[in-house]
Amino acid sequence: MTSSASTQRYQGALMNTFGPPKLVLARGQGAHVWDEDGREYVDLLGGIAVNALGHAHPAIVEAVSTQLQTLGHISNFFASAPQIELAEKLISLVAPGATEDAKVFFANSGTEANEAALKLTRRTGRTHVVAMDGSFHGRTMGSLALTSKEAYRAPFEPLPGEVTFVPYGDVDALTAAVTDATAAVLIEPLQGEAGVVAPPEGFLAAARAIADEHGALLWFDEIQSGMGRTGHWLASHSAGVTPDIVTLAKGLGGGIPIGACIGLGRAATLFEPGNHGTTFGGNPVACAAALAVVRTIEDENLLEHVTVLGHKLRDGLAADPRVAEVTGEGLLIGVVLTEDRAAEVAAAALRAGFIVNNATPRRVRLAPPLVLTPDDAQAFLSAWPAILDEAFA
Ligand SMILES: *Cc1c(COP(=O)(O)O)cnc(C)c1O
Repeated sequence: MTSSASTQRYQGALMNTFGPPKLVLARGQGAHVWDEDGREYVDLLGGIAVNALGHAHPAIVEAVSTQLQTLGHISNFFASAPQIELAEKLISLVAPGATEDAKVFFANSGTEANEAALKLTRRTGRTHVVAMDGSFHGRTMGSLALTSKEAYRAPFEPLPGEVTFVPYGDVDALTAAVTDATAAVLIEPLQGEAGVVAPPEGFLAAARAIADEHGALLWFDEIQSGMGRTGHWLASHSAGVTPDIVTLAKGLGGGIPIGACIGLGRAATLFEPGNHGTTFGGNPVACAAALAVVRTIEDENLLEHVTVLGHKLRDGLAADPRVAEVTGEGLLIGVVLTEDRAAEVAAAALRAGFIVNNATPRRVRLAPPLVLTPDDAQAFLSAWPAILDEAFA
């Protein structure tokens, strides 16, 4: 943490929900950011898996500026071309071949995408939702009700709904929890806030079968794991399991706020006019930014790049004996340490000029821009042993 004048003004003027800021940042370019003193950092967190194209990417700058000069905001009494095009594009990416049976609702954030999805599940006539231990789905009341972390929930109870939590990856527990009164089963195919935790192989397919058996919807929260972060458009694509609902946000807009709730099959048409709404959702500027993100990922072959670079990073990080395990896929990476030193690692990394996140006491999370260069990845790997020396001292 800096104790600069800006930090003091921040603390004087902003509600203390986040604790003191680690830095006051002034600008960014690619995977690099600079603080207000001009010090440079490699950003390996990417605004928490948001800056898919890094900072100040020309494709986003161009798309946003052009759209803002053309048509910046309309209400949802009206439609715009970027919104229609983005919805069609997302359907084709999320459920290739299912274009007849998929529809999108646009929101402005992850938690709002999940609120939309939660309301959507209510339209089944059922109210019970089964969610996972270790889950994170957002901070608004509905999403919080689906989030397992006690420290986030407790100050705000009672929370809406009937929610049952089961251990992540436990097929027997899921089988026992889902009944004919269950509206939906909600799973992060890769748990991000938990420190990048993957379920055992076969879990997503088992969840699909259990949901089907009881007529429940299968809902994947891919807000952090989606949009190419794992080297696939969705993390669940590598398991080959298709859900009924997908929620997206974070990387979708590349830094411009946008979220999406996508309904497939019967979930596509559960909402009727008047059931849900938003003033900003589907805003032409946000949709133009998201289209730029999608097109750039396609044009620059970034899924392939993410896969290759992810392997290199994970292998390099795992080589140190103070690392017990490296989790995740592509560029959503969890480093499990042999001791609870994640906060020390994040602090030492920052002093060395790298931004990483201590997701839990023992897990360090990396979610760098998808455009991270091999040179920047190598610079971090070269600095890694010294960062661990400092953190474990
Ligand atoms: C970040 C996140 C959310 C919440 O998104 P916000 O935009 O912060 O509201 C929900 N689900 C998952 C899996 C997330 O990682």
